[in-house]
Amino acid sequence: MLHNLSYWEKKNFFHADVIIIGNGIVGLNAAIAIKSENPKTSVLILERGFLPSGASTKNAGFACFGSVSELIEQEKLSGTDGLHQLISKRWKGLLKLRNLLGDKSISFQNNGGFELFKPQQSDLANECVAKMSHFNTLIEDIVLQKDTYSLTNSKINSFGFKGIDVLIENNLEAQIDPGLMMKSLLAKAMSIGVQIYTSCKVEELLNENNTVLIKTSQGDFSCKRALLATNAFVNELLPDLAVVPGRGQVIITKPIANLKLKGAFHYDKGYYYFRNIDDRVLLGGGRNLDFKAEETTDFGETVVVQQALVNLLKETILPETPFEIEQKWSGIMAFGTPLAPLIEEVKPNIFCAVRCNGMGIAIGSQTGQEAGDMVARSF
Ligand SMILES: Cc1cc2nc3c(=O)[nH]c(=O)nc-3n(C[C@H](O)[C@H](O)[C@H](O)COP(=O)(O)OP(=O)(O)OC[C@H]3O[C@@H](n4cnc5c(N)ncnc54)[C@H](O)[C@@H]3O)c2cc1C
Repeated sequence: MLHNLSYWEKKNFFHADVIIIGNGIVGLNAAIAIKSENPKTSVLILERGFLPSGASTKNAGFACFGSVSELIEQEKLSGTDGLHQLISKRWKGLLKLRNLLGDKSISFQNNGGFELFKPQQSDLANECVAKMSHFNTLIEDIVLQKDTYSLTNSKINSFGFKGIDVLIENNLEAQIDPGLMMKSLLAKAMSIGVQIYTSCKVEELLNENNTVLIKTSQGDFSCKRALLATNAFVNELLPDLAVVPGRGQVIITKPIANLKLKGAFHYDKGYYYFRNIDDRVLLGGGRNLDFKAEETTDFGETVVVQQALVNLLKETILPETPFEIEQKWSGIMAFGTPLAPLIEEVKPNIFCAVRCNGMGIAIGSQTGQEAGDMVARSF
């Protein structure tokens, strides 16, 4: 028998008022929001992986709200007011995450964020430098300071870069340890009574007589409300949602003695990102080298992206320093327009909160909270 379930197991483990599918930053924050508002509401999270298996434990840990070149692109898509709202959501989301868990619990470090430009990118660099004051003014009422973005070419040599001639600093950008963040979120959720089952893949959701039936690899569950927080994987259960997956490949070096670089760095319109962590360099990106191949929900690496990452390390980031790659991995993001996350009731009693557009550290908490509020209000 596949599931040798007892009467007691069936009676006590397979039903909750709210079932959340997906144990990432969004699912956990939604669970915490619902349970905090209504302690008597039973909340269960079903996660297909042994660990969360999407983006939340596989990302780069940038606590960022946009480099200048990213903001230029996003302003074209969202308009100036729309961009202001987006940045406000990201900034408030970061404050919310820090308030919920505490800076120590997520290893929050404000070492600054930097965008690098090569001489052959002079048109882009000039456009970004010219736009700095526009964005500084736009975000002043959000971050409550002037001159967040500034030109800091004098720091290029101190980081040891080669072939970089323009550097823009964002003095509010920070970095966290996303593994610590997720451990703290899991502990927080469990401490207020959220139940979490892992290795439980949801295969189908059916709404029958005001009850949502959830078919999984471990048996059938039922609930009054279901919330899908499966991000890039949501189309497996709801094929019509406008969500496009994007794989992010990441490499990390072995520890490097006297490592010069410190901070969160963006290159090539944000398609590459790197940072220091534990005397190592963590570098990810290169999706733009083959968008089609990286538009996938499959984890894995490709030669073209791996080679580009190693070349960037050798030629630009660590030109004078020998290094060895210790580990590589990938994670899957969810993209789509509009840039704001998709938070809605998609079918009666079935909700979704997905598509953080590669910025879930910044907007994941807020997205989870908004989805949790929406579910709680629906009772
Ligand atoms: C390489 C990389 C670098 C990134 N860097 C940054 C960064 O520096 N800063 C930043 O702000 N953001 C970054 N991001 C984006 C950020 O990590 C995501 O936006 C955020 O983690 C999304 O959270 P989520 O909870 O929506 O999704 P996820 O963390 O992907 O969680 C979804 C969960 O649903 C589960 N699931 C899926 N299908 C099912 C199913 N059928 N049944 C049960 N469970 C299921 C998955 O296993 C997964 O655990 C990065 C992402 C990647 C991949």
